[in-house]
Formats: sequence, structure tokens, C-alpha cells
Amino acid sequence: MAQATTLHDAFLDELRDAYDAEKQLTKALPKMAKAASSPQLRKAFENHLKETQGQIGRLEKAFASLDEKARGKHCDGIEGIIEEGQSVMEEDFDETTMDACLIAAGQRAEHYEMAAYGTLVAWAKAMGHSEAASLLQQTLDEEKAADAKLSALAEGGINEQAADGAHADNEEEGAPALVGGGRQTASGNDSTKRSRRR
Ligand code: ZN
Ligand code: FE
Ligand code: FE
Repeated sequence: MAQATTLHDAFLDELRDAYDAEKQLTKALPKMAKAASSPQLRKAFENHLKETQGQIGRLEKAFASLDEKARGKHCDGIEGIIEEGQSVMEEDFDETTMDACLIAAGQRAEHYEMAAYGTLVAWAKAMGHSEAASLLQQTLDEEKAADAKLSALAEGGINEQAADGAHADNEEEGAPALVGGGRQTASGNDSTKRSRRR
């Protein structure tokens, strides 16, 4: 009988998954930067693109430290998260609402990565792969910082600004909301459907 696959094999599998996820993200981040209206948000996505390229290099070093060739294995999870971000970008949101939604999409990716790297660091430590552990920890710290940066931008004005326009139709004194009379009714309905699906 063939030898059972071990945690080391699972670890290599997860490393390949992360390698592929980072490569997918290097294609998605420029689109998110382009769709952002806030200059700080755009900058945050652009900075994280640079970090992501460095993370790919770190994963290559981690593979090398294990005498393994760097290769990817398609990451379905990040593909789904990127697809959801893509569909947000196709919506007809006003500028700050779009920014708030881009942050939401970006944070889903960061949290996914934080979970992946958290596991990778713990497994590398448990198996005594200290060089890989330290490389992966650096990336985990970057993902956490990127997530915190997005929270700071959301809570530092973007959410509030988006919220200012959120009830524009029913805030006019005494006037009932006009069904179908407001702008962006169609996309509003669409996004309501989408959020109910989650
Ligand atoms: Zn191992
Ligand atoms: Fe990353
Ligand atoms: Fe990231």
C-alpha cells in the first residue's frame, strides 16, 4: 500500500493554494484600484498589490526552504471572492457606496488570506519548518495590516459619506418616498436581492 499522505503533504497543498491565490489577486487588485474613487483607497489597493508581489516571492522562498519547486494549485475560494468583487464593480453605485463595497470585497479577500496564512504558520511551526514559518508570518502580518487599513478607511469617513446619501429618497420633509422616482432604483433593487442571498 502506498504511504499515507501526511500533514507535510497537506502543508505543501496549502502553500500551492496560497501561491495561486496571490497570483489571482495580482490581477484583481489593479481593477479594484481603478474602480476606487477615494485617492487613499486607490493607494491602499496599489500598495497592497506591491505587497502581494512580495508575498509571491516569499512563498517561492518558502518552497525553496523545503526543497520544493514553487507551483500553484487553483484556489477556488479566492476565485469566488474575486468574482463577487467583480460583480460589485458592475453595479451602478454612487462613488462612495462603490468605495464602501470595494472595501467590503477587499476585506473578504484579506480575511480569507489571514485564515490561510494563520494555518500555514501554525503547521510550519508544528513541523519545525522555521524558515518557512517566519516567511509566512511576515505575510500574515501584512495581510492583517492591509485589513486594518481598509477598516480605518471605511470607518474614517467612507462609510459615513456613503450613508449620507443612503436615504436620499425618504428624507425629504413630509414627502413619502416615490417608488421608482428616485435615481438608481434598479441597482438598489439588485443590491437588495444580492444582500438577501448572502
Ligand atoms: Zn513538513
Ligand atoms: Fe496576499
Ligand atoms: Fe492580501
